[in-house]
Amino acid sequence: MKVPFSYLPRQFENPDPILAKIKELVTSGALTLGKTVEAFEEAFAAFIGTRYAIGVGSGTDALFLSLKALGVGPGHEVITCANTFVATAGAIHTTGARVVFVDCNDKFVIDTEQVEAAISPRTAAIMPVHYTGQPANLPELQKIAKRHNLPIVEDACTGIDASIGDLRCGATGLLAGFSFHPLKNLNIWGDGGMITTQSEGLYRKMLLVRNHGMLDRDTYAFFSFNSRLDTIQAAVGHHLLPDVTWITNRRIEVAHKYDTAFADLAPEVRTPPRDPGERHVFHLYMMRVSRRDELLATLKAAGISAKIHYPRPLHLQPAAAPLGYQPGSMPLTELMADEVISLPCHQHLTDAEVDFVITQVRQFYGASL
Ligand SMILES: *Cc1c(COP(=O)(O)O)cnc(C)c1O
Repeated sequence: MKVPFSYLPRQFENPDPILAKIKELVTSGALTLGKTVEAFEEAFAAFIGTRYAIGVGSGTDALFLSLKALGVGPGHEVITCANTFVATAGAIHTTGARVVFVDCNDKFVIDTEQVEAAISPRTAAIMPVHYTGQPANLPELQKIAKRHNLPIVEDACTGIDASIGDLRCGATGLLAGFSFHPLKNLNIWGDGGMITTQSEGLYRKMLLVRNHGMLDRDTYAFFSFNSRLDTIQAAVGHHLLPDVTWITNRRIEVAHKYDTAFADLAPEVRTPPRDPGERHVFHLYMMRVSRRDELLATLKAAGISAKIHYPRPLHLQPAAAPLGYQPGSMPLTELMADEVISLPCHQHLTDAEVDFVITQVRQFYGASL
């Protein structure tokens, strides 16, 4: 049996309904912005629970342009966590601001106590990541942000449909960035991203920021970027948006099967604590295990494409050398880099495949089947 991490061949077995929409677009000639992008933005904002959404070129751009629109730049610092995809740090760095890393907690999201300790007079924003699909502790972050009068820009690239209590990921910060990369829970046929906000002023500004600062064809309010969400990709995203709820629910179902099946394997297998008040959307199913590399090799040999996210944390990457972090500065993040493994966990897995993964993991640790 092969248990793939990628589900694209299964998801797009029949691409015809989407291709029909693209055909319509191509023959209409309306290939940048326009009604197709606007309709997707409106539907996306409604789904997340914000008044506005702005389509951009990628999730990375969504984060970078959000910070730029808030005036973040040289001389500033932005606080984020060291265990995230490189794009979070890249988005901060490309504004000219300094990336300030803090450690994570046992749910793989930013440790809020350390956020407060990292705030300096130069701090311009806090960028929590809903990493793996686990909501960051937004209620606590809101309090910290309020106390220090700082904006939260959510990296919600892996947080679509996630929530914590009555706070929805992407609708809590001043701005939030989403990614539609082919391996994100809402995935288009290439790159794309979305910014969400409740602020009409920021919405109006972002429309200009993503499109040359162009007020109209002949008037430019300021010099800016071209990072428009591709119109063809907006058609793909809009077509798939209604699927997000069942996609999330199926991912949660698979994750719950894993949680239940591994509950008696501690301390060799440790799944993160789960809180029933949090909607974790399982972009990744990540857990901590002993003899990690051996387990990975065993699963691979059995045809299961498990992965490591990531073997080397950001603060110890060559790219972070100028920031001066030493090994030992983010103890939990560093421990996670040696212990985490991500199992296939997506909406196109069959129950038989999930059971096969469970059997292989239990066998590896010599547990009963
Ligand atoms: C994917 C991802 C991004 C970047 O999104 P792109 O669309 O690939 O640019 C940023 N942050 C996190 C946590 C991500 O997983």
